[in-house]
Amino acid sequence: MLEQPLHTGVSLPIPVNQPLLDGNEKRYLNQCIETGWISSEGPFVRQFERALAKRTQRQQGIAVSNGSVALEVALAALGIGQGCEVLLPTFTIISCATAVIRAGAIPVVVDADPLTWNMDVTQVEAKITPQTKAIMVVHIYGLPVDLDPILALAQKYGLAVIEDAAEAHGQTYRGRPCGSFGDISTFSFYANKLITTGEGGMLMTDDPHLADRCRALRNLCFQPQQRFIHDDLGWNFRLTNLQAAVGVAQLERWDEFIQRKRRMGALYTELLTGLPGLQLPLAKTDYAENIYWVYGVVLEETVSLTAREVMARLGEAQIGTRPFFWGLHEQPILHDLGLLTEVACPVAEKLARRGFYLPSGLALTEAQIFTVAHTLQTILRQD
Ligand SMILES: *Cc1c(COP(=O)(O)O)cnc(C)c1O
Repeated sequence: MLEQPLHTGVSLPIPVNQPLLDGNEKRYLNQCIETGWISSEGPFVRQFERALAKRTQRQQGIAVSNGSVALEVALAALGIGQGCEVLLPTFTIISCATAVIRAGAIPVVVDADPLTWNMDVTQVEAKITPQTKAIMVVHIYGLPVDLDPILALAQKYGLAVIEDAAEAHGQTYRGRPCGSFGDISTFSFYANKLITTGEGGMLMTDDPHLADRCRALRNLCFQPQQRFIHDDLGWNFRLTNLQAAVGVAQLERWDEFIQRKRRMGALYTELLTGLPGLQLPLAKTDYAENIYWVYGVVLEETVSLTAREVMARLGEAQIGTRPFFWGLHEQPILHDLGLLTEVACPVAEKLARRGFYLPSGLALTEAQIFTVAHTLQTILRQD
């Protein structure tokens, strides 16, 4: 079902992630070297921006150096800073909180839904205050956030929406692409993302004014007319032509990669269904089918081993895993900053302690999935 990729003959050890780079990546990289276009000025950057904008039904894409800084640029472009509150899930990567805090704004977190692991949208409205300026939604692990209620709240209270689609390339919400919902949406192209450039990111928007702001902010706010006179402070967050060349090659395989992920997820589910004590990812909700960016599992109370212990045993069998996110409201650094000190989010607290994900990279073979599932079964049956 999943063909053996050309470059991996071995089945062990099984890394948590290995990308597939056997399309046109080398060819396009050679073009960069041969033409001398290696900086952000090269043609692949625009090509990559246009191709992803097309895929996500957006007017504009602005490539940046990674998905974390894409969030920083998004907040700056939307004018979110000092004193503003930003609502976001607690169960997410630190990048989301870092961007909010570096902008001078205040993160306000929402607990996760126990089944989809996404922000529990029923808890959002109660957290809105007169200082709330934006909602940062983050699609987690393979299922999108339930966006309709969020978009309705944003409309009702006049809030900006930032959509972090770093884990949702190729995913849709009620048939519309993830990455098309925010005033600004962002992607990451880190090596474990569905489309990778090694390191990289992109902002997507339909608003030409916001797009211009993002382009200026990523490039030190140089001005087109008077290059070295600055009206604002930006960053150098440019993506190189070399990275974009890899991105263009990766995007050519968008549909194939999505199918492959879904088949991998379905196979894990087939092999692990019925194993007592293990919560598996939902195959679908009423608004989306899981794309299994990573295949997460959660140990139920009946299992006496902790996630760490199960991961250690898988590690002894040369199988790589990663723990789930540790909630923002439990981060020592945020407490040191006086943030989120009195917040309880019981679902995220359980996910952090009981959840982890199995090898999920695109280069994973069917035989490796069998090995992982079999090893996990053996560990849990001995428990
Ligand atoms: C990976 C990821 C990021 C950060 O992207 P980088 O390119 O690694 O900086 C941000 N948000 C989410 C949800 C991610 O999964």
